[in-house]
Order: sequence, then C-alpha cells, then structure tokens
Amino acid sequence: MSLFVQKFGGTSVGSVERIEAVAEKVAGFVENGHDIVVVVSAMSGETNRLIGMANEILEHPTPREMDVLVSTGEQVTIALLCMALHKRKIDAKSYTGGQVKILTDDAHTKARIQQIDSESIHSDLKNNHVVVVAGFQGVDENGNITTLGRGGSDTTAVALAAALEADECQIYTDVDGVYTTDPRVCEKAHRMERITFEEMLEMASLGSKVLQIRSVEFAGKYSVPLRVLSSFKEGPGTLISLEESSDMEQPVISGIAFTRDEAKLTIRGVPDIPGVASKVLGPISDANIEVDVIVQNIAADGTTDITFTVQRGEMAKASQILDNTAQELGAREVLSDDKIAKVSIVGVGMRSHAGVASTMFQALAADNINIQLITTSEIKVSVVIDEKYMELAVRSLHSAFGLDQEQDQE
Ligand code: ADP
Ligand code: ASP
Ligand code: MG
Repeated sequence: MSLFVQKFGGTSVGSVERIEAVAEKVAGFVENGHDIVVVVSAMSGETNRLIGMANEILEHPTPREMDVLVSTGEQVTIALLCMALHKRKIDAKSYTGGQVKILTDDAHTKARIQQIDSESIHSDLKNNHVVVVAGFQGVDENGNITTLGRGGSDTTAVALAAALEADECQIYTDVDGVYTTDPRVCEKAHRMERITFEEMLEMASLGSKVLQIRSVEFAGKYSVPLRVLSSFKEGPGTLISLEESSDMEQPVISGIAFTRDEAKLTIRGVPDIPGVASKVLGPISDANIEVDVIVQNIAADGTTDITFTVQRGEMAKASQILDNTAQELGAREVLSDDKIAKVSIVGVGMRSHAGVASTMFQALAADNINIQLITTSEIKVSVVIDEKYMELAVRSLHSAFGLDQEQDQE
C-alpha cells in the first residue's frame, strides 16, 4: 500500500465527463488499497476566463483581488470531483488551500509555499478518506488568499507530496510524459522514460510548460519522486529522478525547449567605460524587470552596444527606461524587438561531449536561420532567433541531435 499525491491538470478536469473519468481512475487506486491525495486545477480555460473578466473592469486589478478571483476556479473542481467520488461510494473530502493550511508568503499572484500542516490530511487518510485539495492556492499569515503563479497546481502537488512524505507525486496531464520537445510542435518528439531533475529544471525554465518550474525545484530539493503521466491513457509516463540514466546510448541532448515569451532590447553607442553595463541594467532591475540573455559587443570608436532580453510583457516598460538611460549616457539609439523566440538544447551529456554548440549552429545554418544571440551554461545552449523560424528550428535541432531517429527505432 502506497501514498500517492495525484495531480490532474485543467484538460483532465475540463468537463463533467472528464471529472467522472478522474474519479474512476482515483477509485481504481483506492480499490487497490492505496492512500490518495488528489490535487486539481481549474477546468481548462477557466483561469483565463476569470482573468479576462477582471481585465474588462481594470487593466491592473490589485493582485490581492486577482487571487481572490482566480482561486475560485480550483474550488469548483474540488467539489465536483468529491461528488463524483461519492457517487462511486468513496469517502472524499475537499479542501481549499486555506483550509488545508498551505501557508505562503504574501507575494500575491506568485506566492511561495512556506509550510503545510499535514496533520489533518494524515488523519483523514487514516479514516480512509480521499483528500482532494485545490491546487494553485494558499493563504498568507494574515489569512489572505494567495496563488502560486500560472501552472501552480503542479507545485501544490509536489509540496504536499514532500510534506506527507508520499511514495510518489504523479502529475496527470494531456500528454503521456515528458517528451524530447513539445509534441505539439514536433510530431517526431518522443516520450522519455526518465529525465534528471537538473535537466527538467532547465527544460521548464527554458519554456517547457509541462511542469511549473517551482514544482521541479521543490521536487529536487526534497527528493520527491515525481512522475508525469497521461490522465487519458495507461502507461508508465516519465520519471523525474536524481540519477542519470545508466543507458550507455543516452543521447548527448535530452530535450529541446523554446519560448516566445521574451523580447529583445538594444542600446547602441554607449561609451565603452567601466560601469556602463550597470548604468544600463541597474534601472531595469530597479524596476523589478527580470533580464535574461545579455550580450555586450566589442567596442569600436570607444563605444559599444548592449543587448538583452526581458519578458515580452515588460518590453514597453523596459524600453521606456532604456530611452531615459540613452539620453543620460548620450547613446545613439534604442531598439526593441518582440518578434523573437529562444530555442534551447538541454542535456547533462553536454558536460562530457565537445562540439554540441557547433552541431546546433550548423543545423540552424543549414536551414538559413540567423542566430541573434547565444547563451550557454553547463547543460544547455540557447539561441535567440526570429520568431517565425522557431518551429522550424525546433524540428531541425530535434533531428540534428538524433532525437527523431530514436522514435523510428521504437
Ligand atoms: P495541465 O493543464 O495538465 O497542467 P499543461 O498544458 O500545463 O497541462 O502541460 C501539458 C502540455 O505541455 C502538453 O500538452 C504539451 O503541449 C506541453 N509541453 C511543452 N513541452 C513539453 C514536453 N517537453 N513534453 C511534454 N509536453 C510538453
Ligand atoms: N489554474 C491555474 C492556471 O491555469 C493553475 C494550474 O492549472 O496549475 O494556471
Ligand atoms: Mg500545467
């Protein structure tokens, strides 16, 4: 008998029929004698619908009220799922984040979980109840409702699994595991049997939204066995684990991630003197804008150019700040471009293999895709390219690194 925390995402609870199917699945585990804690998302599209209504009233509603609003989506699904479980003669109890005491900081819309009171859940489990918890939400120490950022139900599930010392945290979604890249973009993508926390963290951070970044951080930190599976069909899914696969044929690159969420800004002709990067980027970070890729050109005529990327939604604000900096420094011009995409290759195998970046650049060149910016770390190489070539780049890299072939062999 095991204790599983099972999370079902938006599509998996997208209709009453789907909720009944989830109840059926959970009932199967209960019949086999397992203790089950379920975490559910809002029905698919619901969180966006709620945000849309808020924005019809105000462009920038207060984060506190946004949290009160968007947390309602999950409250609907916990109740409906419990009813579907009751119909199957299973004792089930629903809890909101506040009721189950998921204590977070007070950073509304992006709160971090600080503590979970697992006592009451354990006692429900002891009484043979299935416990159904609303994902994505918590409360701060003053009892205000908070939410954990988009995709946050994954993090609720992992945090609960850590607090309850569950045998496994199972993330049920609309794909049957973590793929070499998003199967919606590359039909030759295939499911990985396992992936390391380190690689999964890079994949999530670089745009693969199959798991929320924070859930992977949490799982790694507390060594929570984490598995991504399909709620629609049976299968082993993908295990996110500490160890690298012992398979000698392990490819150098495990996966390809991409994002359209960034925008590029350039300040041209700033004086090439010590402190200039901090003069350019200081005001950006003072405005709480996160900067990702940064490139400074070599100097010509005593001046240089600095280019960096920010979240697309923050481009206008960053550009305004940069215009002021440009005036102060006597820079030539400020350019901004939001039609970019970042494509990244990820793999722990990179540590022990040379030539990975050049294979990447060759593959992109063969398709005439121009690279605008490059950034690397120990286990990833990212390039910024024109947005319109993003899908082509993903597919080219997928085949250049032999990820297509593997599927053919299966
Ligand atoms: P849920 O609503 O269940 O949380 P999400 O939409 O958040 O589901 O995540 C599942 C989606 O993630 C898939 O439908 C897929 O398009 C996308 N995705 C992106 N990258 C990957 C990847 N590498 N492997 C699998 N799915 C991926
Ligand atoms: N409902 C929230 C969202 O759409 C949280 C989640 O689904 O994980 O982002
Ligand atoms: Mg999700």
